[in-house]
Amino acid sequence: MRPMTHKIAITGAGMGGLAAAALLARDGHDVTLFERFETPKPLGSGLVIQPVGLAVLDALGAGDTARSLGASLTRMLGHSGDRVALDVAYRAGQPGLAMHRASLFHVLWQAARGQGIAPVTGQAAQSTHATPTGIHLVTDQGEHGPFDLIVDASGAGSLLSPLTARPLPFGAVWAHVPWPATDLPATELRQRYHRASRMAGILPIGCLPGDPTPRAAVFWSLSGAELDHWPARPLDAWKAEVGAFWPAMTPFLDRISDKAQLTAARYTHGTLGKPYSDRLVHIGDAAHRASPQLGQGANMALLDAQALALALRQPLDEALRAYHRSRRWHLALYQALSAAFTPQYQSHSRALPVLRDHVLSPLSRLWPLPRILSALVSGDLIPPIAGQAQGAGSAGRPGALVHKS
Ligand SMILES: Cc1cc2nc3c(=O)[nH]c(=O)nc-3n(C[C@H](O)[C@H](O)[C@H](O)COP(=O)(O)OP(=O)(O)OC[C@H]3O[C@@H](n4cnc5c(N)ncnc54)[C@H](O)[C@@H]3O)c2cc1C
Repeated sequence: MRPMTHKIAITGAGMGGLAAAALLARDGHDVTLFERFETPKPLGSGLVIQPVGLAVLDALGAGDTARSLGASLTRMLGHSGDRVALDVAYRAGQPGLAMHRASLFHVLWQAARGQGIAPVTGQAAQSTHATPTGIHLVTDQGEHGPFDLIVDASGAGSLLSPLTARPLPFGAVWAHVPWPATDLPATELRQRYHRASRMAGILPIGCLPGDPTPRAAVFWSLSGAELDHWPARPLDAWKAEVGAFWPAMTPFLDRISDKAQLTAARYTHGTLGKPYSDRLVHIGDAAHRASPQLGQGANMALLDAQALALALRQPLDEALRAYHRSRRWHLALYQALSAAFTPQYQSHSRALPVLRDHVLSPLSRLWPLPRILSALVSGDLIPPIAGQAQGAGSAGRPGALVHKS
């Protein structure tokens, strides 16, 4: 039977919005994508697409281009002094894919364009209102609609979402730099900690579209108060502090000559109990936010987009409930784990890092915990979309998500 099709507005041409636009247009829906910027652009530096997120990119036909741009990530290794505080390996043959945000944006943009989506730009969504004929979107440029459904994918600053997220005590500054001459492997995320109040990281992120130079994302954790003072902090003093903390970072820091290369990010945490109301559904950061410690945010947005597209193959009344059911436990689990893990790496606690280094880290090397941790970072500790199965060993192959019902 031909699936139901709808007239759908999506707000936000970010990770979730572009994926949703491509998937929904491919299913025959009439999709209009609204973006606040005149020229859609990714903000920030690097991120990790986990095997579950890669399966969504594969389902979009974008996985191979993503792999050609990103860096395969086989392991995450963090030290506190001489102690190993974190050591998680991906499953053999199923690495993560670390990417520059612009590269991920590029592959999603191409996928959306490939489905005939031409985003309506310079339109900041402000509110919605329902009428007997459907739902209307109000942007700073006027009113659009009616639509059968509005998908809010406008990220952490969404004006359509009722989510009030809790500010986390730490954020970070991020930069991306050309990968220098270094002994560090270009297949591992490396981190270094002092207690939970200092964290430095180096993530290989592959290259940018049209530029084959391999790159790294580097980050440095800062408390909220330190972030307040960040604009006044001299670059050389910061580089000297970070280089003294972790000398291996010096060749990366040498490639930062201007503070404008660094982006400051604050983190928040929160989840909508019910991510939909009549004819309005929230996906990605508009529905749930967490610190990037588990590296899941973009994956969650991609999974939301795919779950929504699958749910919308049935009548609208049932589809939004089905969407919520299919994602709620995976989301709840990962949000809970993020809330539990983040303070071990980013907090003022003295006790948690001692527990991390002297109890949890040694325990994590004992069977079966390495396998559980691999599943955790891969994003498939439980099925990411309930009622769907990932093809055996297939995270990464086209159409890897299979409808079971
Ligand atoms: C420093 C940092 C590191 C991270 N690292 C990782 C990682 O390693 N792995 C990972 O999976 N995730 C990571 N994340 C999280 C990830 O970036 C987000 O979870 C993900 O981008 C959410 O996708 P989204 O589509 O919901 O929102 P976004 O990608 O933020 O897209 C939102 C879009 O909506 C647009 N918009 C905003 N307001 C409006 C409006 N009013 N009207 C119209 N358009 C609007 C924006 O311009 C943007 O294009 C990280 C986040 C940060 C800050």
